[in-house]
Amino acid sequence: MTQLVWFRNDLRVADNPALTAACKSDDEVRACFIITPEQWQEHSWSPARVQFVTAHANALSEELARLGIKLSFIHADRFEDSIGKLESHCSEHGVKALHFNEEYGVNERKRDKAIKHRFDDIGITVRKYRDQTVAPVGEILTQQSEPYSVFTPFSRRWRSWIEETHPGLLPAPKARGGAVSPARIDTVPKAFRDAPDPLVSTGEKAAHDQLERFVEEYGGAYKEKRDFPAIDGTSQLSPYLANGILSGRQCLIAAKQAQAMGGNEEGLATWINEIAWRDFYINILYHYPRVSMHRAFKPETEALAWNTPGDTFEAWKTGNTGVPIVDAAMRQLNQTGWMHNRLRMITAMYLTKNLFIDWRLGEDYFMSRLVDGFLASNNGGWQWSASTGTDAAPYFRVFNPVTQSERFDSNGEFIREWVPELAKLDNKRIHDPGAKSGVIPKGYPRQIVDLKESRKEAIARFQALKN
Ligand code: FAD
Repeated sequence: MTQLVWFRNDLRVADNPALTAACKSDDEVRACFIITPEQWQEHSWSPARVQFVTAHANALSEELARLGIKLSFIHADRFEDSIGKLESHCSEHGVKALHFNEEYGVNERKRDKAIKHRFDDIGITVRKYRDQTVAPVGEILTQQSEPYSVFTPFSRRWRSWIEETHPGLLPAPKARGGAVSPARIDTVPKAFRDAPDPLVSTGEKAAHDQLERFVEEYGGAYKEKRDFPAIDGTSQLSPYLANGILSGRQCLIAAKQAQAMGGNEEGLATWINEIAWRDFYINILYHYPRVSMHRAFKPETEALAWNTPGDTFEAWKTGNTGVPIVDAAMRQLNQTGWMHNRLRMITAMYLTKNLFIDWRLGEDYFMSRLVDGFLASNNGGWQWSASTGTDAAPYFRVFNPVTQSERFDSNGEFIREWVPELAKLDNKRIHDPGAKSGVIPKGYPRQIVDLKESRKEAIARFQALKN
C-alpha cells in the first residue's frame, strides 16, 4: 500500500506537514504534482511564475528522488480534471491515503472538497494539513472567537500566540531506501514560455541561503531601508514564500534566531511584522471567501462608479503615464516580474485613485506579471490601496506619487534605472518633468491626468457612496 503526497503550493521537503505525516508510515511514499495550464491561465498566473514553479517542481522531484520518494507529474488542464486523473494515479499505485496541505482560494477549496467526497466513496483516506501560515489558519481569533478584520490587534494576538506556543520546524524526512530516478517537466506549457530572466536562484537550498544572508546581513537595517526602491533593503524572498519553497515559520524562526544572536533586533521585528501581514491576508481569504470571487471586502464600495478602462489603463500597464515613479515601477514589473512594496502601493493607488480604474483590473494585471503572485497578499494589497478592503487606507488619504517619489527616490536613482529617457534630468526635475511648464524630454509623455483634480474627484466619488 502507498501513501501519496500531493504537492501544490508547498514545493519543499523541509517543514512540510503533509510530507512529514505521510513519511510516518512504513508504507511506500510517493508524491505528485498536477500541471493545470488552463486553470493557471484562468487564475492569471504569469509566465514568470509558471517558469519559477516548474523549475522548483523539478528541483523538488530531484530532492525527493534522493530520499527514495518518486514524484510523478500529472497533466490535467483544469482543477475539475485533476480529480479523475488523481483517482487513476491512486488506483495505478495502490494508494490508500492522500496527504496535502490546504489552499484557500475558492476554486482550490471547491476542488479539494470534491476530491474528499470522491475519495471517501472509493475508500481512499484524505488527510489535510494547515501549513500556509505561522499560526494555523483560523487559529488567531478575537476573544469572541471572531476573525480579526483589523491588522494591529491581529498581529498582537499573533505575536502572543507565538510566545505561548513556540512553533517549531519539521525536519526534512529521512531517506526511505535507495534513491529513485527523478521525473522532470521538460517544457513549460506554451502560454507561459515568454518570461523575464529568473529573479532568484532555484531550489530550497538557494532559498535558505538567501534567507540566512538577509537575516544576518540586511535584517538590522530593514526598518530604515525597506521603503527605498533603489536599494536592496528588503529580502526579495516573496517568490519563495508565495510558492511554498519557504514557509512563513522558517522565516520567523530564522529571524528570531538572528535576533537572539543580537544586533538586528528592531529591524527584524519590523520584518517579522510583514510575515504577520502575510498571515493576516491569508486569514482574510479563509474567513471571507468573497474576496477571492472579485468582491470587495467592504460591500458598500461595490457601488463605486469606476472609469471605463481605455488608453489610460494601457498607459499605466506599459509605464507611460507621465508620472516617472509610476512608470519606473511598472517597467520594473514588466521586465523582471517583481516590484518593490512601496511601489506596489504607489502604482495601485495611482490606478485606483487618480485614474479611477477598478482595483480588480490592477489586481489581475499584477497577477499576470508577478513571479510572486499570491492571491491573498495581492488581493489584500489592492483592496488596501483602493480603500475597499479590510483595514484599508482611508479613501481621503491619497498618496501623491510625485511627493512619494521625492521622498523615497530622492536622487531619482530608481527612475533613472527604469526610465532612461529621463536620465539626464536633475534630482529635482526628474520627479515631475512637466512641472512649471518644464520641457519634457523627447519620447516621454506628459502626465495623462492632473494629479490634484483626479484626487479631488476620487474623494468626491467615495463621499457620494455615503449619500
Ligand atoms: P519583505 O519586505 O522582505 O517582506 C518579507 C515577506 O513578508 C514578503 O516576502 C512577503 O511574503 C511578506 N510581506 C511583506 N509585505 C507584505 C504585505 N504588505 N502583505 C502581505 N505580505 C507581505 N506580496 C506577495 O507575496 N504576492 C503578491 O502578489 C503581492 N501583491 C501585492 C499587491 C499590492 C498592490 C501591494 C500593495 C502589495 C502586494 N504584496 C504582495 C505585498 C508586498 O508588496 C510583497 O510581499 C513584497 O514587496 C515582497 O518583497 P520582499 O520579499 O522583498 O518583502
